[in-house]
Amino acid sequence: MIETLGRGHDLRVVAPEEVEDAITGDVAVVMLTEVDYRTGRMHDMARLTRKAHENGALAVWDLAHSAGALPVDLSGAGADFAVGCTYKFLNGGPGAPAFIYVAPRHAGTVRPALSGWLGHAAPFAFEQGYRAGEGIARMRVGTPPVLALASLEAALDIWDGVDMADLRARSVALSERFITAVEAACPMLALASPRDPARRGSQVSFRFAHGYEAIQACIAQGVVGDFRAPDIMRFGITPLYLDETDIDRAAGIIARVMRDKLWDNDAYRQRGAVT
Ligand SMILES: *Cc1c(COP(=O)(O)O)cnc(C)c1O
Repeated sequence: MIETLGRGHDLRVVAPEEVEDAITGDVAVVMLTEVDYRTGRMHDMARLTRKAHENGALAVWDLAHSAGALPVDLSGAGADFAVGCTYKFLNGGPGAPAFIYVAPRHAGTVRPALSGWLGHAAPFAFEQGYRAGEGIARMRVGTPPVLALASLEAALDIWDGVDMADLRARSVALSERFITAVEAACPMLALASPRDPARRGSQVSFRFAHGYEAIQACIAQGVVGDFRAPDIMRFGITPLYLDETDIDRAAGIIARVMRDKLWDNDAYRQRGAVT
């Protein structure tokens, strides 16, 4: 992607703990996923955005594992841009549309990377030249996926009655309960998520050398987690529809999978395209 700019920029990928020190005066854009998809480790959006701005850089946030999982305050943090998906914690369903955020201060000047017809100032005039639409409207690329938006709209209706602070409190309580139960029963699993809930999103991950097989075995027993290479077993905690009973049952099933080595089975070693 960076080559498409054609200005000789470098792409620097640094470890999550090293991001803050890597934001120096020669950085143009800081692009971060707020909640790490492997470990659930959460960056401090306000602090890193401030550091980016102090160094003359823009801050772009990926909210794939934040939206619907925890309170997000883009304008409070001063973020420049953000993107995210609606099919994870927002429950829009497979293939639900992505979203983009542009700070109002940029909306009138930003040049869309994809200058699609529906983002044109006069989409139905079919002019030969491109004129960007007014403000955020220019970020629309093409015809909206209306069927997918219809199911997303139904999913979003539920959020009208949800206070994100309540949701976060439930997420933390359920996550803590899950960690306590799994650690007590499964000494072979090492917590890969931050132990401090304030530094964690709404997921809990454990490391286990046979994590792929173990997740397959959990799925076969009704606990649907994800495997992320090389050894991460990831469990999403979704308080909109999970409660203590679900958490306890899930922890009990994981305990059985681990204690009885149910994962040690050829059927679970077959790698699928989706993990
Ligand atoms: C799921 C996810 C996305 C969403 O990507 P799509 O192309 O919308 O499916 C983006 N970033 C991260 C880190 C994700 O986990």
